Amino acid sequence: MRITALAGGVGGARFLRGLIAAVPSAEITVIGNVGDDMTMHGLRICPDLDTVMYTLGGGIHEGQGWGRAEETFGVAEELKAYGVGPDWFTLGDKDIATHLVRTQMLGAGYPLSAVTEALCTRWKLPVRLLPSTDERVETHVVIDDAEAAGGRRAVHFQEYWVRMHAPDAHAIVSVGAETAKPAPGVLAAIAEADVIVLPPSNPVVSIGTILEIPGIRQAVADAAAPVVGLSPIVGGGPVRGMADKVLAAVGVAVTAAAVAEHYGANLLDGWLVDADADGGAVAEVEAAGIACRAVPLLMSSPEATRAMAQAALDLAAELSARTAV
Ligand code: GDP
Ligand code: CA
Repeated sequence: MRITALAGGVGGARFLRGLIAAVPSAEITVIGNVGDDMTMHGLRICPDLDTVMYTLGGGIHEGQGWGRAEETFGVAEELKAYGVGPDWFTLGDKDIATHLVRTQMLGAGYPLSAVTEALCTRWKLPVRLLPSTDERVETHVVIDDAEAAGGRRAVHFQEYWVRMHAPDAHAIVSVGAETAKPAPGVLAAIAEADVIVLPPSNPVVSIGTILEIPGIRQAVADAAAPVVGLSPIVGGGPVRGMADKVLAAVGVAVTAAAVAEHYGANLLDGWLVDADADGGAVAEVEAAGIACRAVPLLMSSPEATRAMAQAALDLAAELSARTAV
């Protein structure tokens, strides 16, 4: 079975572990978000791609959900001693090695997709990880700033999220998205999949940013495979993180049903909501033309996460059988 998943960072990566556990024999392609990428100290950093790579490769800091296990911070301490910031984004020594390899390869002219493949070789990744695009697409967030002209300014997503802890926002802009092209293999992985999964990643700044690369949303909508998503919103709030702030910025209510409707029946065939908190949302989602099931949706253990992935595949199988008759 060929499964293609669109994924952000921590939430996406944890879910992918469950997907691999559910179908160890599947050929899984992960299309990763690059909207969080940035350059710091001259190093190109791809937080979401690295979180997927470290998580599935066995190098992740489990408690934190991002960054390397058994990390040291010698470089960060030296930078601090020099008074060189920013102080809100710390890079670990092991992590820096990843960024050095990436930056060096990009400088030598390799596209991000080739660099990502090279990095993943070391981790013997059980999936194929593709960046959504080889071009630069950066998520910027428009926030209030009394000192800026017009009273607003746009900040890079990392600054908005990590330094500012997601204040109220007016708009989310994917800078560079209009002219970007899907990375090699992305459209084929969507067209040739047996199942397409949207993990419970951030629907705006992770999966939304992937879908904004011209051609990707259309390819998912046109795919022969059923498209099944899992709600990142449980009981009217994000399970972790600040997804409520970016949903508000794009005018979407913070409910499991509203996120499904935001993706839309044109894109989504099936949607999973949490059985304990959101069973009442099933009728609303189905009324919008999306098949919906209520199952436990908390990734509280590897087994719970595997069961979530299995539920998504079960719904996909049901939808495929329906189209086949
Ligand atoms: P990313 O979008 O994949 O980069 O990852 P984040 O860690 O930023 O989380 C994205 C979303 O995952 C958030 O909106 C969370 O609500 C959601 N999420 C995290 N853990 C769980 C979980 O156990 N269950 C569900 N349903 N969603 C989760
Ligand atoms: Ca992210």
